Amino acid sequence: MRTAAGTARSGDAVADAPRTTIFTDVDYEKNGKQVVFLRLPHSPHDDAWGVIPIPICVIKNGTGPTVILEGGNHGDEYEGPIALGHLIRDLDPARIQGRLIIIPAVNQPAVARGQRVSPDDGKNFNRTFPGSPTGTATEQISFYVNSVLFPMADAFIDLHSGGSSLSIVPSAIIEPAPDPAHMKRNIDAVLAFDAPMTVVINNLGDPRTSTASAVRAGLTTVGTEMGGGGTVSAAALKVCRRGVDNLLAHFGVLPPAKPAPAGHTQLMQIPGSKGYVFATTDGVFEPFHEHGAQVHEGEPAGQVHHLTDPGRAPQVLRYPTDGVVYGKRQPGLVKPGNCCLVVVTPYTGQLA
Ligand SMILES: [Zn+2]
Repeated sequence: MRTAAGTARSGDAVADAPRTTIFTDVDYEKNGKQVVFLRLPHSPHDDAWGVIPIPICVIKNGTGPTVILEGGNHGDEYEGPIALGHLIRDLDPARIQGRLIIIPAVNQPAVARGQRVSPDDGKNFNRTFPGSPTGTATEQISFYVNSVLFPMADAFIDLHSGGSSLSIVPSAIIEPAPDPAHMKRNIDAVLAFDAPMTVVINNLGDPRTSTASAVRAGLTTVGTEMGGGGTVSAAALKVCRRGVDNLLAHFGVLPPAKPAPAGHTQLMQIPGSKGYVFATTDGVFEPFHEHGAQVHEGEPAGQVHHLTDPGRAPQVLRYPTDGVVYGKRQPGLVKPGNCCLVVVTPYTGQLA
């Protein structure tokens, strides 16, 4: 555990190292509960000397592991931020051992607007890591998370849902770690979350996500995909709240979970590019299967209708692999390249 690293504050940066632009009243070493803001200087047309206020809660009691809990990475994914709001309001600091750093609406402009990307700069927070102190607002926030928060922590929990364009089986996810011992830490943690499904996802190898950065920083790293469709699922929210409690118990920050986790243990994976069914024409996508359906390579997955040209036959899309339907596009309207379906397969350790 690296709890002693809690002194790695922005003010400690050496002279030539890039410094965060964010300032805050939070004291990461203070016992008790603080609910305050990170403040990012922001100077748009209607607010010359304003700030973007990013909520942060630090709950600390004595010594123990430090866990970062992130929600609002994408602004239209709600179960995570709601679960973290409950934690912020309800958790008695005396119940924990260690430190929680909770950032429930980390890309605040995107959360305030209910959008995947920031309305300020059009950036997807989860494609900006490691960020930049001289970049756009979104890049400055990811720089703070990567360079100020990650060095303080032992573990990172990144709570996503499917967002406006996807509906996903509520699940806990793992970012692969190249070091086997680190991967085992991630797997042990994600199984402790005890979601109905657990999936290894590497975003086609993209290094710019917060979980990929957390793994590079050595943190035990767990994510989620909870429902989606730009709405709140009561069932997924229940899985999310219980899973976070289970994880915090696994890390030793909370007492053992009651009731004990049910013990879901099967690991699945998105098998690289073969896990995705993409639209190849404009139109309206009709899926042929529901979540959880067992499907086969070459089997019709759905079809794209040309509603304004009814004499033209729909274009059939096929599954590129055997597997289980994990995610489905939400809006009917598609254009070439849109992700229509996602399929998972049993975990093999090979994601290419
Ligand atoms: Zn997301």
